[in-house]
Amino acid sequence: FMPFSLPSIPASLLNAALLFVLQIFINNEWHDAVSKKTFPSVNPATGEVICQVAEGDKADVDKAVKAAKAAFQLGSPWRRMDASHRGKLLNRLADLIERDRAYLAALETLDNGKPYSVAYLVDLDMVVKCLRYFAGWSDKFHGKTIPLDGDFFCYTRHEPVGVCGQIIPWNFPLLMQAWKLGPALATGNVVVMKVAEQTPLSALYVASLVKEAGFPPGVVNIIPGYGPTAGAAISSHMEVDKVAFTGSTEVGHLIQKAAAESNLKRVTLELGGKSPNIIMSDADMDWAVEQAHFALFFNQGQCCCAGSRTYVQEDIYHEFVERSVERAKSRVVGNPFDFKTEQGPQVDEEQFKKILGYISTGKREGAKLLCGGNPAADKGYFIQPTVFGDVQDNMTIAREEIFGPVMQILKFRTIEEVVERANDSKYGLAAAVFTKDLDKANYVSQALRAGTVWVNCYDVFGAQAPFGGYKASGNGRELGEYGLDAYLEVKNVTIKIPQKNS
Ligand code: NAD
Ligand code: MN
Repeated sequence: FMPFSLPSIPASLLNAALLFVLQIFINNEWHDAVSKKTFPSVNPATGEVICQVAEGDKADVDKAVKAAKAAFQLGSPWRRMDASHRGKLLNRLADLIERDRAYLAALETLDNGKPYSVAYLVDLDMVVKCLRYFAGWSDKFHGKTIPLDGDFFCYTRHEPVGVCGQIIPWNFPLLMQAWKLGPALATGNVVVMKVAEQTPLSALYVASLVKEAGFPPGVVNIIPGYGPTAGAAISSHMEVDKVAFTGSTEVGHLIQKAAAESNLKRVTLELGGKSPNIIMSDADMDWAVEQAHFALFFNQGQCCCAGSRTYVQEDIYHEFVERSVERAKSRVVGNPFDFKTEQGPQVDEEQFKKILGYISTGKREGAKLLCGGNPAADKGYFIQPTVFGDVQDNMTIAREEIFGPVMQILKFRTIEEVVERANDSKYGLAAAVFTKDLDKANYVSQALRAGTVWVNCYDVFGAQAPFGGYKASGNGRELGEYGLDAYLEVKNVTIKIPQKNS
């Protein structure tokens, strides 16, 4: 990081924020759940309940879809709004998020556990840039004129899909919200979003800013609740035109199936990964060690694109492993509100237990545990930065997504061999190669079957560049111009041209 100064957050401010964020947001109003049920949101650094949140379910989804449909009706303020004005509203939303940046970053840290410095400097920065990027697209997604045979004027209009269901995960609550709201709203859609049950707070606070920004009622509706109830109600809804999902591959299957069995709604999926990070022997050692560490450990290891198979060429294997272990041991784990902290707790007890389970599987299957492997505190869901060496391709920890601070290092000899092994996965989200040799960089970046390939860098994201998966890592792309496709129908209009003036 560059030197920075962060505004710190008094607890009283956080408590005040919580007053805004306990209910379901439909039609620019706050509602209790129809069932009157609530569920707790937990601070993963302490295991303590932060507050109770209204628990949305099918009845609330129905209400939200109704509101969204009304907002999308022909002639409604939203449908009649100038395209440039949609952009203005998105920019206003970005302004409000900037105004409340410290507040939102603190809510994110409280609910998710990620370090406040990262939430403030990275997540919030990307959220604002994403909204502004898509604000700019609002009046720029052109159709085409087409030279159809015969006397016809043929053109395309790019029209909104309609009611977009959006189901988001807990690892980047605000950023995943922005990735979904940005393109959907720029293109004139209406949204019913279900936020993750682990982290509902920040996204609900943003709902209050959606209203303040001046979006018409019903354009954005936000429902906290659980997956099999509220989430499934969205993916199987007969009047939801599209569903965009980010989360586990397992639930991705369920979403696509629900779409197939209901109304064939459009489906885009951003799912898991087991991304290979290939370190060639000619790589800059200092940089490669640090980047491989970052690729895996960033965000407590809770990244869909985590570099979770680190392939290291045999002649540098020893040194690389030694230095990676040293780096992992120096990683600062602790209170996420402390500015020095690099790693906070895992998001919840379920993830914490799942990760510890993978660590014992790794040991049992014969991988070499080089450091870590245990909980890092006696309360909260902290796990020691963990490194496994001598990992083999067929081991569970080399095949399944761990989603935690657990690094797998594997040895390889030749470039052809490593490409084949890297591609031997059901996933294809991201990949990276570290080398100073342009030919090697080119060879590997063409050969890998993944939606993103980083060369001599990792986790470089920007709203301008598309992101998404090959194979079981999903379908469709988010961000960039490509990210608009998922939110647009192409309408072809063909008009007979009279051949004489009479
Ligand atoms: P999940 O897939 O269950 O949850 C993601 C979102 O989907 C949440 O909002 C959840 O409520 C919702 N959901 C769950 N079941 C649903 C259903 N039947 N219908 C509709 N929506 C449903 O993920 P999880 O249980 O929180 O984590 C499990 C694993 O998923 C993690 O260990 C990790 O490997 C992976 N994961 C990946 C990402 C990612 O960014 N790709 C994010 C979170 C988790
Ligand atoms: Mn789940």
